[in-house]
Amino acid sequence: IISIHNVHKSFGTFKVLKGVSIDVMKGEVICIIGPSGSGKSTLIRCINALNDIQGGSITVEGQEVHDDKLDKLALRKKVGMVFQQYNLFPHKTALQNVMMAPIKVLKEPKAEVEQRARALIKKVRLEGKEDSYPGELSGGQQQRVAIARSLAMRPDVMLFDEVTAALDPETVKEVLITIKDLAAEGMTCILVTHEMKFAEEVADHIYFTDKGVIVEHGPPAEFFKMASDPRTREFLSQVL
Ligand code: ATP
Ligand code: MG
Repeated sequence: IISIHNVHKSFGTFKVLKGVSIDVMKGEVICIIGPSGSGKSTLIRCINALNDIQGGSITVEGQEVHDDKLDKLALRKKVGMVFQQYNLFPHKTALQNVMMAPIKVLKEPKAEVEQRARALIKKVRLEGKEDSYPGELSGGQQQRVAIARSLAMRPDVMLFDEVTAALDPETVKEVLITIKDLAAEGMTCILVTHEMKFAEEVADHIYFTDKGVIVEHGPPAEFFKMASDPRTREFLSQVL
């Protein structure tokens, strides 16, 4: 469903991605791990064309993402993204936050969107919080509203960039459960995460990046047991 091939990305003269290739099949869960500054967020942002690229190609469902003729709105409808900072609209309730994009961007009928939004809030296990404002919700609850908001656009793929990094340890778990539910339903997911145990449990494939290259990758069982590159070993010894 996504094919990343030999992608190069620079900011000015600084090379952030130096030939990254990843293939993601429909329904797969891919985890990307690696030290700070290794280019994980940059790569994720290249997938939905928030960043341009200087070489290589990225296709989503066969369509080249970095083609000038590509309809970016259509792409972002297909590829949902959730960040570390959830940025909900503070003066809108949870339900209104989830309903906004389908009404404003997709111009879908309100009643239909509301029904879907309520179902999504239930799905992220926030039933009863529909009318709460972001300020009345915990960080983990707000992040789950952000996930529901992204799902309201009915994406085919979800990108998660360290969505639990800013949360208290108690609320991390509930967000991870939500992502796990999604994965179990067959949603294609690409996750940048520092939660190694979670990556081990949900990922079909783990990629370790350092300094803009993929140093190693494999299914979790192999990856954690047999990581052979010294950079991977050092990283894992620090986080496990
Ligand atoms: P972290 O784990 O800290 O989130 P990361 O792996 O996500 O790190 P990136 O955010 O992709 O790393 O950044 C990779 C490198 O690119 C960093 O050195 C960063 O300073 C640089 N960089 C990122 N965005 C820009 C930008 N818009 N302009 C210039 N340099 C940038
Ligand atoms: Mg990052």
